[in-house]
Amino acid sequence: MIPGILKLFHEHLALGIHTIFEWTLWKVRKFSIFENMASTVKEFVNNCDLCNRANMRKIIPPLRKNTVPEMPFLVKALDGAGPFPVTSSGNH
Ligand SMILES: [Zn+2]
Repeated sequence: MIPGILKLFHEHLALGIHTIFEWTLWKVRKFSIFENMASTVKEFVNNCDLCNRANMRKIIPPLRKNTVPEMPFLVKALDGAGPFPVTSSGNH
């Protein structure tokens, strides 16, 4: 039962991602309680096959120097993400 709970809270269904240990533990603590919770959650997250294959913990975005624009709205930015998996309905 516990691995099922951990899998449920480790996999963020809405975003389609796996959450880090701290976030997973926070969610598990909100909805359940069991012995050795922190160490059990940590072991589960550390042994997650998908996370280990993706090597999520080693992906660190590079630091860059920020510049201050001379006036408001002089600089615009847009965040991008993807590619995302195709849903069962065929949506991209
Ligand atoms: Zn994972």
